[in-house]
Amino acid sequence: MSERGLLIVLSGPSGVGKGTVRKAIFERDDNEFEYSVSMTTRQKREGEVDGVDYYFRTREEFEAMIEAGDMLEYAEYVGNYYGTPLTYVNETLDRGKDVFLEIEVQGARQVKDKVPDGVFIFLTPPDLAELKARIVGRGTDTPEVIDERMKVAREEIEMMALYDYAVVNDEVHLAVDRIKDIIVSEHYRVDRVIGKYIKMLKEI
Ligand code: 5GP
Repeated sequence: MSERGLLIVLSGPSGVGKGTVRKAIFERDDNEFEYSVSMTTRQKREGEVDGVDYYFRTREEFEAMIEAGDMLEYAEYVGNYYGTPLTYVNETLDRGKDVFLEIEVQGARQVKDKVPDGVFIFLTPPDLAELKARIVGRGTDTPEVIDERMKVAREEIEMMALYDYAVVNDEVHLAVDRIKDIIVSEHYRVDRVIGKYIKMLKEI
């Protein structure tokens, strides 16, 4: 039987570009890991496909999943639920495949509590000034809204301490390379492979 796969969690502050980096990772066809499609109650955006970008569900359906204990994690973000269905993650890890989650920070904290041996990667903006530019650059928000986003972002950056890796998103293709390097290296960690060697010794 193959070893259980790794659970890889990509998170980071709002506006840092998690979704863009994740999409760039999965546009490559050389990945050894599989993306866990999230569930959400938000409206489908143009071009999005149910079951590919998200599982689009009603609040009632989402809450029933929570009730049944079928979510690995979930959070309310800007008035909508987002979460990771548990079954796909478990089945994929059991097949020995790594699973990749791209989620906001409240959800990542829950996963950290439940799966402490996951690989936690925090995507960071090159600096706070640029984060502000990105947040402001989104459109026609009021200064209050922008200040609130900055406050949230500052708090989120303080959460970096929970993570194993901080990857700067200066250029998407560089961030993608860094993340892929981390995942490869994680497989060589002694604490991940020593069990296999001990088992071999016992069988001799
Ligand atoms: P968007 O609505 O722009 O697709 O996503 C909004 C936020 O939800 C992003 O920060 C994204 O990372 C986060 N997100 C997407 N899927 C999940 C999930 O399954 N769980 C959690 N906690 N956050 C998610």
